[in-house]
Amino acid sequence: MSAVGLIRFSGLALVAGWVLSAAAQQTYTGPLFDAHLHYNDEACVHDAPAPGCPHPLPDVLARMQTSGVRAVLANSRPNDGTRALATAREQTHAAGVTVVPFVRLYRNRADYNNWFRDGTIVDLVQAELAKGTPAGPYRGLGEFHLYDSANANGPVAKQLMALAEDKNLAILAHVDDAAIDLLMAHTLLKGQIDPPPGRPKADQPPRGAATRAAAERGGDGLRLIWAHTGIGGTPVARVEQLMARYPRLMGELSYRPGLTCDGGQLCPEWRALLLKYPDRFMIGSDTWINQRWLYYGELMQGYRTWLGGLPADVARRIGWDNGARLFGVPTPKN
Ligand SMILES: [Zn+2]
Repeated sequence: MSAVGLIRFSGLALVAGWVLSAAAQQTYTGPLFDAHLHYNDEACVHDAPAPGCPHPLPDVLARMQTSGVRAVLANSRPNDGTRALATAREQTHAAGVTVVPFVRLYRNRADYNNWFRDGTIVDLVQAELAKGTPAGPYRGLGEFHLYDSANANGPVAKQLMALAEDKNLAILAHVDDAAIDLLMAHTLLKGQIDPPPGRPKADQPPRGAATRAAAERGGDGLRLIWAHTGIGGTPVARVEQLMARYPRLMGELSYRPGLTCDGGQLCPEWRALLLKYPDRFMIGSDTWINQRWLYYGELMQGYRTWLGGLPADVARRIGWDNGARLFGVPTPKN
């Protein structure tokens, strides 16, 4: 290599180093709120000794801790996994993780396809809500699945939506876009922040602009969290339409097709949507099978990469604030 070549090479190396460090600086480094976590019995059967527990509590908590996940929306099939997380107060505290417990509707795999026509599921939910957990009361219901959106009009879905609204719970629903309209129709507020004209709710007077803005950012009353925000590839324009129509709709982004493009950064239309609704989206792991636990760290790193490509305040809201505000989780000091 000639002297000129060497100088050029050094210059290139400098530029490359600068680009690399700029990219590293852009990775989101703040706390993460995992808004879609399962601790199912494939990961651990809590009343059986190993090998019924490939991912015992210390393992899953260590994965959260090393990934900078400081709060989790926890649910499991059956509810024993959530209860195990919610009961391990010392361990979760030591790992710096706040557990936000949700009631799962499923006792077993058969319930995935039957819950919406099985009235005993409402009893199960009521009994579990009444019990609460050592980490506090349950804060929501789900995740539930509707593979045929027509079942959103079944009696159990209607009852659960009404129950959630009455008790200020959130719902985590793996559904298509048509079901979002159907589920919201079962609530008195129809997915709105203020009551529709002519249907005032006794404890929800019309609000001023400032309080309405605060309510739109979350933290009071029912929220429908759309698991995956359209896992079947709902067009972004349709997602945007639903976000505009229902201020009480939130989007969780695991498994969302078309979300990321080159370099693991957001695709342009998703970037635009997240910038338009920075208070309405959250990230999640969806640890529905053990493989997701094995790659938990990589999943979270993937989120940190594209969050880092957003303005810092937007990254912070989607990575942490939106979930924290919704469930009143204090922001960790370190
Ligand atoms: Zn899930």
